[in-house]
Amino acid sequence: MEVAEPTNTVLVDYNYTTFDELAKFINKKNATVDVLGVVIEAFPLRSISKDNKEQTVQKYLLLNENMKVISLSLWNEFVDAVGPRIEHEVINHPVVICHRVNVSYFKGIALANKYDSMILVNPPIDEALQLVTWVQVFLSFKNIPQRYWYKACRKCYTATDMPLGEEYTCNGCGKPQEAQARCRFDIDLNDQSGTITGSAYAELPEEILELPADVLRNYSFEEINTHLSKVHKKFAEKPFIVQLKPSRKKRSGQKRRYDIVQYSEVPEGTELFQPNEIPASSEVKKDPSDEETSTTSPHENKSME
Ligand SMILES: [Zn+2]
Repeated sequence: MEVAEPTNTVLVDYNYTTFDELAKFINKKNATVDVLGVVIEAFPLRSISKDNKEQTVQKYLLLNENMKVISLSLWNEFVDAVGPRIEHEVINHPVVICHRVNVSYFKGIALANKYDSMILVNPPIDEALQLVTWVQVFLSFKNIPQRYWYKACRKCYTATDMPLGEEYTCNGCGKPQEAQARCRFDIDLNDQSGTITGSAYAELPEEILELPADVLRNYSFEEINTHLSKVHKKFAEKPFIVQLKPSRKKRSGQKRRYDIVQYSEVPEGTELFQPNEIPASSEVKKDPSDEETSTTSPHENKSME
């Protein structure tokens, strides 16, 4: 599997609007937002005849860092410009930055480009944005011989040799802490092109195992194996979308390692994120890309401004 090396060559200083904040911009004609997301689905290109003009529109589903889904419609020259690129990459879940797009509501938050929007596909983005790499993979760890728990600082997860429950000064955070059992283990991420290995740490591994480290610690070898085979079976059945970031502990000469930030079942694609507050008028507002009788398009916006 190929994972793009993160670079910091492009200065990305847009002020991203989080999915939760998007509701504030619904149907505000002159307000635009910058949104960062990952394309999880591209619907077929559609032609809409309007005002004796043939218009093309393509709809996509975007996922954000909280695994919420919204829709994005691109019109005409925007489809021509970035549609093929997204289409080509969609299986790898490209990151898109939607700059200066409009927000409306149709079954959920719906973004659409304006004439002066800018859509960037897989731009080199800062690691700090944490949307480093998303992959759709099968997860497996049954063939990795490893321990599933270790002794660590309860705050920062830095490993320690101190007896459990004992107070000590942590090397990681420099504070007096208590040694605690924590889960951490490696997981193989498989797709058609191959395998890379990522580490699950902090709360994630306990979530994956559905077991707190404290309980796991007291399991016998047989009990662990019985439990693990249930977990392995669950993961063998379906692919997941996994967010990875390069591990900080890269030693020179070694292959780059990855930390698993989060994982999610591949969304069905029908359930769009519902903001807490939706403007009362917006329920009746139609997403033009869903309707043959479109009321607005970027071209119209252009002539009105
Ligand atoms: Zn610590």
